[in-house]
Parts: sequence; structure tokens; C-alpha cells
Amino acid sequence: MKYASIIVDISHEKLDKPFTYGIPGALENQVTAGTAVEIPFGKGNRLITGYVIDFPEKIDFPEDRIKLIASVLDKNVTMESELISLAFWIRKNYGGTINQALKTVLPVKTKIQEKLQITVCLNQPKEEVKKLLCQIGTKRNMLARVRLLKALLEEPKLSKEYVRGQLHISDSTLNKMEELGLIVLEKSRVWRNPAMAMLGSKKEIHLNEVQRKVFLELLLEYQKEGPKKPQLLFGVTGSGKTEIYLKLIEEVMNQGKQAIVLIPEIALTYQILSRFYERFGDQVGVIHSKMSVGERYDQMLRAEKGDLKVMVGPRSALFTPFTNLGLIVIDEEHDQAYKSEGVPKYHARETAIYRANKQDAMVVLGSATPSLNSFYQCQKGNYKLHQLPVRAGNAQPAKVELVDLRKELREGNRSMFSKRLKDLILDRLEKKEQVILFLNRRGYSRFVSCRNCGEAVMCPHCSVAMTLHRNPFGKERLVCHYCGHEMDLPKECPNCASPFIGGFGTGTQQVEDMVKKQFPMAKVLRMDLDTTKGKEGAIKILEAFAGGEADILIGTQMIVKGHDFPNVTLVGILAADLSLFAPDFMASEKTFDLLTQACGRAGRGRKPGIAVIQTYNPEHYAIVTSKNQDYKSFYKEEIAYRKILKYPPVFQMLSILISGKKEELVNQMAIEVGKSLQVLEGDYLGYQKIGPVDARVAKINDVYRKVIYIKAENHENLLKSRDLAEGVAVEKEEYRKYVSLQFDFSPMGGQ
Ligand code: ADP
Ligand code: ZN
Ligand code: ZN
Repeated sequence: MKYASIIVDISHEKLDKPFTYGIPGALENQVTAGTAVEIPFGKGNRLITGYVIDFPEKIDFPEDRIKLIASVLDKNVTMESELISLAFWIRKNYGGTINQALKTVLPVKTKIQEKLQITVCLNQPKEEVKKLLCQIGTKRNMLARVRLLKALLEEPKLSKEYVRGQLHISDSTLNKMEELGLIVLEKSRVWRNPAMAMLGSKKEIHLNEVQRKVFLELLLEYQKEGPKKPQLLFGVTGSGKTEIYLKLIEEVMNQGKQAIVLIPEIALTYQILSRFYERFGDQVGVIHSKMSVGERYDQMLRAEKGDLKVMVGPRSALFTPFTNLGLIVIDEEHDQAYKSEGVPKYHARETAIYRANKQDAMVVLGSATPSLNSFYQCQKGNYKLHQLPVRAGNAQPAKVELVDLRKELREGNRSMFSKRLKDLILDRLEKKEQVILFLNRRGYSRFVSCRNCGEAVMCPHCSVAMTLHRNPFGKERLVCHYCGHEMDLPKECPNCASPFIGGFGTGTQQVEDMVKKQFPMAKVLRMDLDTTKGKEGAIKILEAFAGGEADILIGTQMIVKGHDFPNVTLVGILAADLSLFAPDFMASEKTFDLLTQACGRAGRGRKPGIAVIQTYNPEHYAIVTSKNQDYKSFYKEEIAYRKILKYPPVFQMLSILISGKKEELVNQMAIEVGKSLQVLEGDYLGYQKIGPVDARVAKINDVYRKVIYIKAENHENLLKSRDLAEGVAVEKEEYRKYVSLQFDFSPMGGQ
């Protein structure tokens, strides 16, 4: 007999206790993951509804005690069914457990108090109140009432928060005044919609000819019956992609369907949200990582009830329980943030395509620098390509210049600003235009090392160098970016006791210091992981800069994504090469993306912009093509290299991470897993195994890490590899106990 794991309540707490039932032969064909079934439950065997989440191979109690599924419920497929089957697919394709997958997909239900908003309203004609004020205005025991009445004369409705917090009126005073009929306390229930305040007026924009053509093509595809190919919208920054999304969503809504719009978290700012609110008002919901669990749940619930028609958010918004989904837009589709870092390591693009297919919806991907994968899929005919080659409106593309830092050095300039960049910054400061300085610091930071023995100060728990930080009072500390371990700066080298140790490398803090020294008249903002920790930290900095509160914004990759600052006419990329030579097959693609996006920040408004790329490798194809803003040439070079070396998207790739605190066991199991995979290798060139080797960071938080990379022509062989590895992992008691195994089916670089 076959078995099914069934949950009877769709909530995170219940997931850990599924019940096992037998599947009667007659129902076998009808029961899939997510199927709603009726099962006999409890002592009285009362029939209740449950959902199938998994199919265990064996059960650990006698077969004659197992109950059978009574029937398959054949009402319309519910949202729960949809989401559970999505989770099942994620588990199958990305690894992890079914519980982890379900927790990713299902909204966290929490009991939350509905927030009541109380408004204090004036309940008498203004003339009456004025008369009253004349009578009581000077009485000392009436001061609070006078204060409130005066405020209400100016603004007849005030929120209770304001009345209590700013006017200092107590509840008892309010109640008394309500009894006297002077005021009314109006109660209304508010949904926690964090961006409701942004409701604005509708600004009519007519699509230009190119946009219109693309829009009509998309619409045609959308109106087709049956499965729809993913559509890639390849349009330079500012070419009006967002306008096209908005128009398409309008059509979707007119048909009574819903849309999901994914945006990288960091680009999820006031600017983009306000455009959606302007268009669609409070039918738009938003999800972002700084929201509380309750706030997120409200949004999901409103979506399920049909109050919302559009959900905008990062990766997790993909699981919005829309029952009549028509469209999924993934903006900046090349962004790394669409790949989940935690288990299950799903990719939002692939998962969106799967979900869309099941619900007859269409996926639109948008980017100025499409992922190599998406462009490759277009070439192969799996996706459909649309292009917007010029900026909408009147903005001109930025002029991009390369500066050869080797030459600067030869000419005696050792500062981090080339002569050209320095001149341009001074010019912009004079003209009161804004500047962005971008430090491409991925995989790179300021560390402390010894001038005598050359060793860097390492984290005692991880195999990475400690990063140097300075707090606002100027005190220096060392912090590990992997485990958070902190220590004071040592006075001497831990390795050879030499006192000559010091900081190396360039961090954003250091750039800030240099800018302040070189351009003392400039007002400077800095944006990186350290300055954006708090709630809305990033948004505050971006808004301050957009509001003209600073002349220069310094930052890491987070400043180059999707923001629109019309007064920025200069972008300086301080060291373009920092990410170029990372041990990562996607290093060139990531560098090209960052540089192109960074250049796209210049000259978004009426004034033309310049971008300056400072580099030690002015001949490298990723640098040259980003200078020319020439994606297609970059693609040609890069795809050739991926083909030769059998990397994605030409081949499929799986990375297997073997980790644990016992170094010996980890090594031993890694070797055994490697051996078990040999059956797939043979002479067949369509399968290639690399490793086991040390992970890029071989130890994190005292956990040792080994990786094996698999490259294969087809996905099937990756799945087989996983099964073989899992076979080894369960073989020995000590492996099961001390070693963990993790799979990544679409690695975005080195582990
Ligand atoms: P993208 O999403 O490709 O970066 P946007 O849709 O944000 O481009 O458009 C860039 C700017 O150009 C925005 O300020 C937008 O309002 C404006 N814009 C877009 N389309 C048009 C149009 N047809 N006419 C005038 N302005 C437009
Ligand atoms: Zn030393
Ligand atoms: Zn550490």
C-alpha cells in the first residue's frame, strides 16, 4: 500500500505533526501533493478535511493499525492545495525537507489584535465651541479641555495618538468630553498597510511608440489560451519598463485577475511604491523584510480575501495566496536576491515560472542586464525577448569614461581618486549637482595584517580575516562578518608578536574619511550594511539624498539598484576590479551587472550624466563592455566561456555542501560521497564532478565545510547525484548524528 502524510490544519505549528494514512488503491491516481481529502479522525472516526503533504516510503507502526483516506474532495482546487503542491515542487527541485518548503510557502498565521484607530472628532458647531471657550478659557481645571477644543477648531478630526501624545489629553478627559457631547470618539479598524499614506494623484503617462509595441506584444501573449512562455523585457535603465508593467497590470485587473510584482528588497523604496499606489490605490499590498509577522499576515489575508489585486514585494511575495493569478513581474530579474540563501535554496525566477504555469498566468522578467540564464533561454526559444533600447522621456544615456589606475600610479597619484574623477567631483559640487561614489566591495573588506610576517588577523571560529570597523567615536574594533565574533584591535601580531600591524584595503568608511578630507565643503552620506541596520535605515538615507540633503552619497552595491535621483550627474566607480577575480564562475557577470547598473544612476533627469570607471584592468571584457553599455557583446564573450567550461546556463550545476563540527568525519564523508558519485561519471562528458574541496570559507563558526560541485547536461543526473549523496549520509550512525548535507541546485557562485 502507498501512504500519505496529511496535515489537518494549515498552520506552521501543526506542520511538525502530520498524520499518516493509507491510500486505497482506487484513489491512488487522484492523490497528489496538496490534494484535499477526507479522513477518519480521533476516537469516533469523525470525518474531517486534511491536506496531503508528502508520501512516506515506510511507516514505523504495524500496517493493520493504519487508517485509510475516506475520499478525495473534489471541490475546486483551493489556495492551500496550490501552495502545498508548490512546496512539494520546491522540495523536489531544491532539496531540504517538506516542512522547510511548506514554511517557505505558507504565510505564518499569528493571532494578532486588529488595530483599532480612534479619531477624536468635534461634535458641536464651531461657533458654539468658540463661545464655550470664552466662558471656560481661563479656568485652571479646564486647561486640558481648552487645549483640545482649540486644536479641534483648527482641525476638526484628530487621531487619538496625536491627542494623547502631543496634546497630553488623558483618557478620562476624553471620556468626560464625550459624555458632555463635545466630542465623539470614532473607532475604525485599520489594516496594517504600511504605505497607505502614499496615496497620490494619478499621473497620466502615454507610452511612447517602442513601449507601446512591446506592451501590445505582451498583451497578445497574455491573452493566449493555455501555457505562456516567460517574457524577457530587456530594456536599458530608464527605458520605461515599469510603465509597461503598470499598463499590463491594469489589463490584468480589468479581467478580474491579480498580479504579483517582485522587486529586490533594497530597490523596494518609496519611489517605486508610490508609482503603484498612484495607479492602483489601496488595491496594492506591500511586503518587505522590516515588517512584523502580523503585518505580513494581514497582507496575505487581504490578498486571499480578494481585497488586494496587486502584491509588491521581495522574493517571498511570490507566495501571495492569489486565487486568480494573471501575472508575475520580476523586476531586475538578474538580481542575486532572487535566490534564497536559506534552505530550501529556491530561485524565485524558476519557482515563479512553475507557479505561473500551474495557474495559467504569465511571467514577465525585466532587466537592463538580463541574467545570462534568461538571455540564453531566449536564444534557445524557451523565453520570448522584447527590447527597449533607449531611455523614455528625454534623458540621455550617461557618458562613460574609463580611467586606468596603473597610469595614475605611474604618474604619482596614490589617492583613491584619479585626477579626472577629482576634477569632476569639484565641478559638480560647484554646480550644486549630486555625486554617487560606488565601492564595489563584494567579497572584499578592510582587514588587519602584520607587516612583519604578513599574516592577517583571523577569526578564531572561521577561516576568514576579521574586518576592521570603526564606531562613531572613532574606536576601532575587529568584527567577523560570518559569525559576528568581535574583538579589540590587538596591540601586536597574534602570530609573531611584531608590533607593526595595521589596516589594509579600502572600506566605505575609509572612502568617507578621504572624501571629507579632499572635499571639506561637501555634505556626505554613506550607505552600507553598517549604516542601514535599523528599521528603514536604508530608506531614510536614500530619501535624504533624494531630498538634496547631501552632495555625495558613498556606498556599496546597495546604492546602485533601481533608484532614480534626477540631480545625480556623476557616478564614480572607485575600484571596478574588486569583484572581478573572485573564485566564482559568475564573477564577470556580477561585475558587469554592477558596473552597468552603477553607470545607469547618472543623468536620470534633464541634465546629462557622466560615469567614471576606475580600473586596473581596462582591457577586461567585462569592463570594456560595461563602459560601452553593450550587453550583447558581453553576453557573447561570457556564454562562450561558460560553454567551454560547462558552467550554467549551458550546463546544469549542483553544489553539495558537507559540514559539521568534527573535521575528521566531515572529510571522511566528503570522500565517500565523492566516491559514490563515480558511477555517474564514466567517460561520459555530460557529467563532471569537482571535489571534494574546501569550501571558499572552509570553517564558519567552528563548523568545517567541504563542497563537491557537479556539472551535468541534464537535471535528472543532478537529482541522481543528490540521491546517491543522501544514501551515504544515512549509512552511518555518526554521519546522521554529526554531519549535515546541503544541496544547492542553482549555485550563484562558489560555496
Ligand atoms: P525603467 O523601469 O525601465 O527604469 P521607468 O518606467 O522607471 O523605466 O521610466 C523611467 C522614467 O521615464 C520615469 O521617470 C518615467 O516616469 C518616465 N517615463 C517612462 N515612460 C515614459 C513615457 N512614455 N513618456 C514620458 N515619460 C516616461
Ligand atoms: Zn606577524
Ligand atoms: Zn567568525
